[in-house]
Parts: sequence; C-alpha cells; structure tokens
Amino acid sequence: MAGERLDILRLGYRRGRDPRITTHLALVGRALGADRFLLAGDDDEKMFDNVKSVNARFGGDMQCEHIKSPMSWLRRFVSEDAGDGEAGVAIHLTMYGEPFREAIPRIRRDRPVAIIVGGAKVPGDVYKLSQYNVAVGNQPHSEVAALALFLDAWYGEAASERNFDGARLIIEPSPDGKKVIDLEHQEEE
Ligand code: SAM
Repeated sequence: MAGERLDILRLGYRRGRDPRITTHLALVGRALGADRFLLAGDDDEKMFDNVKSVNARFGGDMQCEHIKSPMSWLRRFVSEDAGDGEAGVAIHLTMYGEPFREAIPRIRRDRPVAIIVGGAKVPGDVYKLSQYNVAVGNQPHSEVAALALFLDAWYGEAASERNFDGARLIIEPSPDGKKVIDLEHQEEE
C-alpha cells in the first residue's frame, strides 16, 4: 500500500451478534485501502478466514489481528509507538464528532493512522485519546457506511480504483455483465 500504514480498529466485537457487519467492515477497509484490520472484543478466526479467502482470490494482503487490550494499544499508539517507535494518529468515527470533510485537511499524513470504529458501547477514553473525533453526519447510522465515506474522502478516487497484487481473479469492469479473468484457470488451459 502506498503511503503511511492505515489500520482499522474495531472495538467491542461480539462473536454471536456482529460477524456479518464486522466482516463487511473489514472488506470495505480492504477494498478502499486499509493495511490492517484490528479486532477488539471477542476473537474470531473464522471471520479472519473469510477475509483471508478474499485476499487469496482477489489479491492484496490486508492483515487481520486480534487485540486483547485495545485501550492499552490505543494509548501506546497515540503517545509513543505506532509500530516504528513514534506516535501515530488516531481518528475515531463517531456521530458526535466534527464534520469529517472539515477535519481531513488538518490531519497529518506522514504518520501511521488508526481509524477507530465503535461497537455497542464506546468507552469515554476513546474520545479523549483519539486526536480526532469525526462524524460522517451527526445522525446515528452504520459503521460500514461511516468507514466507506471516510476512506473515500481520505484517499479520493484512489479509494475505489484499486488493483491488488497477487489476485487470482481479476474483474474486468463492464457495463453489460460479469467479466472475470481466472488466472489459475487460464494457466491450466
Ligand atoms: N451506541 C454506540 C455509541 O456509544 O456510540 C454507537 C453504535 S454505532 C451502531 C457503531 C459505530 O458506528 C459507532 O461507534 C461509530 O464508529 C459508527 N457510526 C455510526 N454513526 C456514525 C456517524 N454518523 N458518524 C461517524 N461514525 C458513525
């Protein structure tokens, strides 16, 4: 991925209730440019396997990781070490925040970024530790929609026009149907 690393940190995951929407969150992150999907709350290897299977077919290598102590992880990320010994930038998506399109031009891009997405209940410290609390409109809606709109504004057109290295299946954009090149199948012929 070009530019500084971008992580998505999903808080408060519940294996019984959240797999579908959380898989969508990871897939939107993958498709629109995230490098890592970090899951806090319950661990779920099965959900990670779904994402890995999309990587295997459609390319890219977005990593999935379970984070046992998200608040410690976040505290460390914003204050001392984003993975390279220096602090990173945490951007919390919340309907209570400032308008995302106004915030984005002020956010530095020369450091790793973590986009934080809440679950059922977001701890108050997330608002304090994050350097930015941004809203995609001040109405409650969906973490998937909030993430998609944010990444589109963050990366611009590049967000939705990505090609991934190592793809087995390549979709040929077409106005009139499904055109998919299967590289493995071609090689066999
Ligand atoms: N009740 C939770 C709380 O205490 O904030 C919110 C639950 S909401 C379904 C799940 C997540 O979606 C939020 O934590 C936030 O990350 C995201 N979200 C929902 N609406 C949003 C909005 N208008 N702007 C930004 N993010 C939003």
